[in-house]
Amino acid sequence: MDKTELATWGNTSTSESYLREPDSILDLSGMLKSIGDKGCIARGFGRSYGDQPLNSDGDVIRPPSASKKLENLSSNGIATVKSSMTFAELLNQVVPLGWYMPVVPGTSYITIGGAIAADIHGKNHYRKSSIADHVESMTLMLADGDTIHCSKTEESSIFWTTIGGLGLTGVILEATIQLIRIQSSSVLVDRKSFKNFTELFETMKSQIDKADYSVAWLDLASKSNPGRGILETANHQELDEGSQFSYETKPLLALPRCMPGGLLRPSTIKKYNSLRFLLADKEKSLKENELSAFMHPLDKVRNWNRLYGKTGVIQWQVAVPEVSEHVLFDIIDSIHKAEAPAFLVVLKKLGPANQAPLSFPMEGWTLAVDFPAKHQEIHDCLDALDQEIVNVGGRIYLAKDARLNPDLIPKMYPRIDEWKSIRQNIDPNNRWQSDFSRRLDL
Ligand SMILES: Cc1cc2nc3c(=O)[nH]c(=O)nc-3n(C[C@H](O)[C@H](O)[C@H](O)COP(=O)(O)OP(=O)(O)OC[C@H]3O[C@@H](n4cnc5c(N)ncnc54)[C@H](O)[C@@H]3O)c2cc1C
Repeated sequence: MDKTELATWGNTSTSESYLREPDSILDLSGMLKSIGDKGCIARGFGRSYGDQPLNSDGDVIRPPSASKKLENLSSNGIATVKSSMTFAELLNQVVPLGWYMPVVPGTSYITIGGAIAADIHGKNHYRKSSIADHVESMTLMLADGDTIHCSKTEESSIFWTTIGGLGLTGVILEATIQLIRIQSSSVLVDRKSFKNFTELFETMKSQIDKADYSVAWLDLASKSNPGRGILETANHQELDEGSQFSYETKPLLALPRCMPGGLLRPSTIKKYNSLRFLLADKEKSLKENELSAFMHPLDKVRNWNRLYGKTGVIQWQVAVPEVSEHVLFDIIDSIHKAEAPAFLVVLKKLGPANQAPLSFPMEGWTLAVDFPAKHQEIHDCLDALDQEIVNVGGRIYLAKDARLNPDLIPKMYPRIDEWKSIRQNIDPNNRWQSDFSRRLDL
């Protein structure tokens, strides 16, 4: 069998591996018996920023996907979904029936398996927690090829180790998820711009209780007001007589493969941010918006990661505990002073953590920053910030990491030994491996 070159969304590394695409669960179980020393890892849609679904010189498995049609949706909104189904495929089918996923990521092009393996959160973690909260149960193929059913009450330690476990406990085959009722496929969005971070942050805190969703976009490139930004809060629309439910996720524009690498220079970022501000100030602040456009604004441009050229993009996403919110100001200041070209900077509120040892969210705030990977000064600046985050009890989002020092993992995820011990019990021969697990010694 020839190797296939695989990459991820961040495009910072590629890897050659044996790509396996089993037709059925039986086929997958058989394949596991012939896995070599480098082990294997499941792959969803490859939307990780880092090396999570890569396995150089080993095997990479795409879970079987017999049909993209949702076969099982009960009258009370409980859906059983194949792990290879994307959010776009699922939402296109359930939104017209008046149902929605309680937790939705910033792109609709990730799979249900990838979402559970990362324990994703959305713009409403403070209301709806992460996806784990809504997964009633899942079926998982273990290293020996056996399939188990697990939930919060059945094989619960395996369930919680798999949540946020980035594929290192087995292949999720399907999940049963409780959906939420919606009365319309639009949201009422309140969009306001703020000239400095203090004002934006205070307003965000004071409005959080009134909004179903809340997210802020920050401008760290502004010379005079780093941290100025645009705050968006949104609420599901109530029943609108005669309104049609729809969920449009198709991109409107595609970027070509060969984009010039230096497109995202500090000067272009500054101009783009200023334009965004100008437009936000001109628009009406209260506006009805399609749910899909509000949830996944970047999906309108297919392959927008190509803007970063061949060297790719790093996303640094941190969680900062509520009591240490002042650190957000330090981060903004440090990135600004380092003159690091931060393109996309997003702030969200997080609610309480769950029971999964590797789940990322914790009560407080999360800040995600996209950088072109080629600038070495960024790496030095982020290494120093990682240390500051550890000192206040915060953590990096492992599902997006491409560069973390492995020594910091036990400090960021203090239950890592418990996670490793359960993993060792169910996979004594280390069958599940990835470039990510080797890099971070997991
Ligand atoms: C534009 C963009 C926006 C994003 N927004 C958010 C956001 O708002 N919130 C958030 O939390 N995350 C967000 N993410 C991160 C994204 O949700 C995760 O990286 C997710 O894991 C990607 O899913 P995927 O299907 O592409 O999986 P892949 O990237 O292919 O794999 C991701 C991990 O999941 C594992 N995995 C995949 N399928 C299975 C399976 N069937 N069984 C077991 N393990 C499996 C892989 O082994 C790997 O470790 C965003 C990413 C992008 C690119």
